[in-house]
Order: sequence, then C-alpha cells, then structure tokens
Amino acid sequence: MGYKFLKLASPTFSSGSLVRIATSQYATTHDADLVVIGSGPGGYVAAIKAAQLGMKVVSVEKDPTLGGTCLNVGCMPSKALLHNSHLYHMAKHDFKQSGIETGEVTFDFKKMMEYKANAVKGLTGGIAMLFQKNKVNLVKGVGTMVAPNKVEVHGEKGVETVNTKNILIASGSEVTPFPGVTFDEKQMITSTGALSLESVPKKMLVIGAGVIGLELGSVYQSLGADVTAIEFLTSIGGVGIDGEVAKTLQKILSKQGMKFKLGTKVLGVKKEGSTIKVDVEAAKGGNKEVLDCDVVLISIGRRPYTKGLGLDKVGIALDDRGRIPVNNKFQTTVPGIYAIGDVIHGPMLAHKAEDEGIVCVEGIKGMPVHFNYDAIPSVIYTSPEVGWVGKTEEDLKKEGSAYKVGKFPFLANSSAKTNGETEGFVKVLSDKTTDVILGTHIIGPGGGELINEAVLAQEYGAAAEDVASVCHAHPTCAEALREANLAAYSGKPINF
Ligand code: FAD
Ligand code: NAD
Repeated sequence: MGYKFLKLASPTFSSGSLVRIATSQYATTHDADLVVIGSGPGGYVAAIKAAQLGMKVVSVEKDPTLGGTCLNVGCMPSKALLHNSHLYHMAKHDFKQSGIETGEVTFDFKKMMEYKANAVKGLTGGIAMLFQKNKVNLVKGVGTMVAPNKVEVHGEKGVETVNTKNILIASGSEVTPFPGVTFDEKQMITSTGALSLESVPKKMLVIGAGVIGLELGSVYQSLGADVTAIEFLTSIGGVGIDGEVAKTLQKILSKQGMKFKLGTKVLGVKKEGSTIKVDVEAAKGGNKEVLDCDVVLISIGRRPYTKGLGLDKVGIALDDRGRIPVNNKFQTTVPGIYAIGDVIHGPMLAHKAEDEGIVCVEGIKGMPVHFNYDAIPSVIYTSPEVGWVGKTEEDLKKEGSAYKVGKFPFLANSSAKTNGETEGFVKVLSDKTTDVILGTHIIGPGGGELINEAVLAQEYGAAAEDVASVCHAHPTCAEALREANLAAYSGKPINF
C-alpha cells in the first residue's frame, strides 16, 4: 500500500486542494460490460454465457479455486464420497447374491478422500479452462460494489477496480450456525468438515435429517459408522419431499442401519473430554435425553452469503430472510445490478442457480426472460436415489385440487428386477379433469436421472397420456415412469 496526492476539483474541496489517498502498489483498472461476483454454478455459468453473447465479462472470486460451494465443498465432493462408499457397501453386502466372491472387502479412507480431492481439482480446473476459452477475465479477491457501476476487488494484488455497465451478484450461501456451537470441523462439523474427516467416526450424530444430513449420514453409515439423525420435524428429507416418499426412504435407510430420532429438539451441544454430548427433548415437550457421539454433523440448512458485497453502498436492502430481493428478470432494486442463485429466493440448488444465470444474462442482452420455478427437480443422492418435480400429494390436498395418482413399483420393473434393485416406486400426480401432470415422485434405482424425463414433460405441460404413449427403451427403469403415467391416465398399468 502507498499514498498519492490528488488535486480535487469537487464542491467539497476548494479547487486545487491536495488530498492524500491510499493506493495499492499494483492498482489496476478494468472495464467490463458485466462483472459477476462469485464463480459458483450460478456465477461461472452466467459469466460464460454472457461472454458467448458478446459481453466483456469480469468474474470476481475470493476463494483460491473456482466453482463455489457446489464444486469445492458441496455437490461434487459429496457425490464422489456417496458413489465410492456405495460401491464399498455393495461389494461387502450385495456382490455375494450375484455370485461374485471377493474375500474380505476393506477400504482405504485416505485414498477415498484423495479420489474426491482429485475429482474436485479436475472440475475446478476445468472452469478455469472454460474461462480462458470464452475470454472471461478472472480477477481474484473479494468483490465490493462501491457504486452501481464500480466494483473494487481486494485481493493479493492489492485493490483492482472494475468499471462496468452491469453487475451480477452470485455470492451464494453459507452454513446456518447452531446456537452455542463453535465448529472445529473435526468433531463438531458442518458439511465441509464431513467432506474432509481423517477417519470414519464410530458414532455420529446428525442434527437435521434434510438433504445434507441424509446424504452425508449415508456416506458414513455405509462405511461402518453408527449414525443417528435427529430431526425436529416428524418426517425426513427436508422441504418439498412427498410424504409417502419420505416414509419409504426412512424405512429403506433404517433397514440399511441408519437410526432416526424424529420430532426431536436439540437443546444444546457440548464437548466433554473427547466425547460430544447432545441434549435433546421431544419437540412437543417431555422426555429429555443426553446422546453422545464422536462426531456431530450439524446440517440444519444454509443461509444467503452477502458479507463484503457493499450492498449498503449501493442501496440494496435484504429481505426478512437475509436474501437479495429481485424481480422476475433478476433485477435488484438498483438499475444495472442483478442477483441469482442461493443468495436470492427459491431452492438452494446448483441447477437452479445455473439456469437463473443463463436467463438473467439473456435478459441483460434484451432477450426474453422465462423461469419456471414449478419445473425445478430435486434429488437426494442416497441409495436408492429420490427425485421429484412439481407438486406433492400434500400440496394438492392443501390447495383442494382434484388429482389422479398413478403408481408403479420397481418390483414390477424388469430392469430393476434383474439388477436386484427393486425397492421404491414412481408416483405421478395428474389433474383429474385435464390429465396434465402436476408432480412426479421417484424413489428407486437411478431416480436422479429418471426425474429429468419427468421435468421435461412438466416443463412442456404434458399430460400423463403423452408420456404413457411415448416408446421407451426396454429393459430400462424409465419404463416404470412410463407405466406410472399410464396408471395415472388410464388407471391400469400393463405390468402390475
Ligand atoms: P455458491 O456455489 O455458493 O458460490 C458462490 C461463490 O461466490 C463462492 O465461490 C464464493 O467464494 C464467492 N463469493 C461470495 N462473495 C464474494 C465476494 N464478495 N467476492 C468474490 N467472491 C465472492 N445442489 C444441487 O443442485 N445438487 C447437489 O447435489 C448439491 N449438493 C450439495 C452438497 C452440499 C454438502 C452442499 C453444502 C450444497 C449442495 N448443493 C447441491 C447446493 C449447491 O451447492 C448450491 O445451491 C450452489 O452451489 C449455489 O450456487 P451459487 O452460484 O448461487 O453459489
Ligand atoms: P435442509 O433444509 O434440506 O434440511 C435441514 C433439516 O434440518 C430440515 O429437515 C429441518 O427440519 C431440520 N432442522 C432445522 N433445525 C433443526 C434443529 N434445531 N434440530 C433438528 N432439526 C432441525 O438443509 P440442509 O440439509 O442443511 O441442506 C442445505 C441446502 O443445501 C438445502 O437447501 C439443499 O437444497 C442444498 N443441498 C442439496 C443437495 C441435493 O440437491 N442433492 C444436497 C445437499 C444440499
């Protein structure tokens, strides 16, 4: 940092005043059509799309690697661990019934973590290459808006200034803290700690049986930990899951060994020696209990991340849930400043952030902006996977809508049967009068892939009859989706 003297001719200073201002030794100025703050799935996709549409784009990222929560400490590392822990579980428990003899199956946890780290490295490095290919200029550091057309980036190179026509905020989210808990990421952990443990804990408590609790709880349960999930609500799976699917998932995970304490309130978490003690009581009041474990994972949700953005400097106020308010074109209350992803309303999902990023920059270019929040899929990557889109039965009952239900069990699907993956079902909910699909809920093999066909159908306003009359490859699990649509449309599937 150095100082230089500027001659100011502003109304505040008499003409010719000398003012000393702090400057960076390496101060650089950039010009851009669009500055994107944050390089998570929302920000990096938006930056690339904007560059492809001909804009001069600067991406600002404070972390050492690109990709945000999703690539570094979210979707990707968790899926690498889910995949490999499931392979271990299969080799240990399921191979025998297929006639495969392995001898004793063991695992090397350190190697599993290295595999995960390499997968993350490849993916984050891939974004850097995509930025180069698409001529997105990356400026590393914390991006702070100092005016609607100016972003200062405080990084290793000092302070860099970007003068810009537009700003897109894609600053994402962070873990919701738990009162009284200081995370050490070894024994009192968030999802980030759970992705980097040095060994498999003997006993693990998970507070919050939502998506993270179930996915990361499953990883350690598959690797031999004794896992209990404590959930305030009386059902698992978090927001938006269909009640029947949640019950089925709980039954299947319980059979795999995971334990659940539902309708349970956590009163406090403390460390005593090398043990973690968790005080709980029934949510409705009554029985108190102290549970102990080696590691407690706290996964009670995430909250928008807005630190350091300079929102006050440009005059953007947060809503009552700490989110940046935007209209249906992702415009904030300040012209030229936009926001997308976890930092705004809607589900905190990578694909939602990506799609918002694309339509937002198309909007900046004057193209139409359309985003259908009713057609965003949700997936829980447990074994089996859960996937859904649209309304649940509970939603439809609450609205008083008349609907039909078409269900098809994987037990009657030839592909699932031959592969020995018969747990679960597909449930299609369609309008009683028009047959238009209102929601699809899958629990079963490849549910996370299958749901995409249901999303396509829902996005284009298909009726159950439309999906039922489309030819599906045989033998595939997708045939169960077709049959569930046939059941919703005609009341009669073929194979069940
Ligand atoms: P983020 O990915 O959070 O990225 C924001 C970026 O902005 C970060 O890199 C941050 O460093 C940067 N930033 C913030 N402020 C500034 C600033 N002032 N200056 C510079 N940079 C800044 N979603 C799914 O769809 N599927 C999944 O399987 C899935 N699994 C998950 C597993 C876990 C364990 C977790 C925690 C989340 C998971 N998610 C999943 C959610 C998903 O990660 C988020 O919804 C997604 O990353 C949101 O994208 P985003 O671009 O809005 O923000
Ligand atoms: P979540 O909202 O899915 O689940 C949190 C759970 O914690 C809820 O069931 C809630 O009732 C419970 N809870 C809250 N406070 C509690 C308390 N004091 N005691 C006991 N239970 C309590 O949140 P998450 O699992 O932390 O995930 C955060 C976000 O990350 C989610 O929005 C999710 O969309 C996203 N995510 C997505 C995926 C995926 O798409 N596969 C995977 C992981 C995370």
